[in-house]
Amino acid sequence: MKTLSYSAACHMLMACADEIIKSKPYLTEIDSKIGDGDHGIGMAGGMQKALSKLETMADGENVYDLFQAMGKTMLMSMGGASGVIFGTFFSGGAKGKEPSAALDARAFAQLMADSLAEVQRQGKAEVGDKTMVDALKPAVDAMSAYAGEDLVEMLSLAEEAAKEGVEQTKQYVAKFGRAKSLMERAIGYQDAGATSIWIILRAMRDDLKAQEEEGIAQ
Ligand code: ADP
Ligand code: MG
Repeated sequence: MKTLSYSAACHMLMACADEIIKSKPYLTEIDSKIGDGDHGIGMAGGMQKALSKLETMADGENVYDLFQAMGKTMLMSMGGASGVIFGTFFSGGAKGKEPSAALDARAFAQLMADSLAEVQRQGKAEVGDKTMVDALKPAVDAMSAYAGEDLVEMLSLAEEAAKEGVEQTKQYVAKFGRAKSLMERAIGYQDAGATSIWIILRAMRDDLKAQEEEGIAQ
């Protein structure tokens, strides 16, 4: 797939929401080990709201509006650290962009890079702090380095990098949230937010691949 149209993007973002909602018990279990156990509940709740919002947006024209609406809805409905962080992940990069009817691989990689920059500006986390940045930064690096034109291929590289990033979080001591107070006792456990990023990127890749195979979008 070389261009992400408005309708393909809407479908893709709904698929992200579906996957997070389905993963609620898994994310809750991960956050229970070293956090307060609410990550799955918060993410699934925010994604449910985002899904309802996206359902009303089938007829739009600017792809960035979809990302902005998704992020804003999460930000307003979720609260807590992850409301701001994940809301910003979806809307941060879309803010201030010229309206566009479709995104190519370059534009999509740029959107993700700008979102990461905004997440880091807001949350101040660096790689190694045991947060979602540990999955998102390598994924963004993989997308920025990708020189081809195929969105599915690019997202596959992003998904692999994010998965590896989640693995890496097991080694880290946390700098944010409840896990911080556990210090070395958090070692051996993966970060919940990083896991969400991996699930989101995997859902993006899988959905675009399916859309391509079904001939919905090229
Ligand atoms: P809360 O910490 O409010 O309970 P959640 O449990 O829903 O929120 O989300 C926790 C996740 O949010 C962490 O696993 C981490 O990945 C992410 N997170 C927390 N603080 C930050 C931050 N400053 N920057 C980036 N990600 C963060
Ligand atoms: Mg929590």
